[in-house]
Amino acid sequence: MSIQNNLQSIQALLPKKVTLVAVSKTKPVSDLMEAYEAGQRIFGENKIQEMTEKWEAMPKDIQWHMIGHVQTNKVKYMAPYVNLIHGVDSLKLLQEINKQAQKNNRIIDCLLQVYIAEEESKFGLDEKEVNEILEYVQNHNNEMNHIRIVGLMGMATFTNNPAQVEKEFSRLKTIFDSYSNLNTNNCQLSTLSMGMSGDYTLAIKCGSTMVRIGSSIFGGR
Ligand SMILES: *Cc1c(COP(=O)(O)O)cnc(C)c1O
Repeated sequence: MSIQNNLQSIQALLPKKVTLVAVSKTKPVSDLMEAYEAGQRIFGENKIQEMTEKWEAMPKDIQWHMIGHVQTNKVKYMAPYVNLIHGVDSLKLLQEINKQAQKNNRIIDCLLQVYIAEEESKFGLDEKEVNEILEYVQNHNNEMNHIRIVGLMGMATFTNNPAQVEKEFSRLKTIFDSYSNLNTNNCQLSTLSMGMSGDYTLAIKCGSTMVRIGSSIFGGR
């Protein structure tokens, strides 16, 4: 199967309201260009240096999503061009994104990463921390005016038990829905980023609006 065929068969399974992020980490620019030629314009990367090299090398109508864990001292390298940061997991990081966005005269869209898995290894916030960050951002409207919180992101436990994964996705959807009335300048949660190659159909069933798919498009890593 070619990258183009893979993309087409995945797109055919996605409802219209679900956005596909093509996760291209570790893959060469030639593979990304194949996806680009097939019409894909949103790419997800998890390392800032690699993403920046690809951004420099590729057409400028691509939207670059940072899907990995972000270190505060690296934000400055992607602030000039990044379109969406999925993995915001602290207020400190959000403040740095705001600062670097301001330097670049931009507003950067962010998702708060929520911890939903039962595994110990995943990054993310618990419900209380999500709430605290949203409160802070709203109460500091004038200072936090170079970021926008546009949704939530989560990763389910890596397991082949679909009931477990469904339970975790459903929990995230419930948290997401609890903010559906939030509508301020910098907090409007409309994007729910959940689902990868192994679990995206389940994620969509549970209410995902954005799936991050790598190996099913580009092959194994
Ligand atoms: C690598 C990665 C993906 C894509 O994983 P696949 O199983 O290859 O689809 C999605 N989300 C995050 C955060 C990732 O790091």
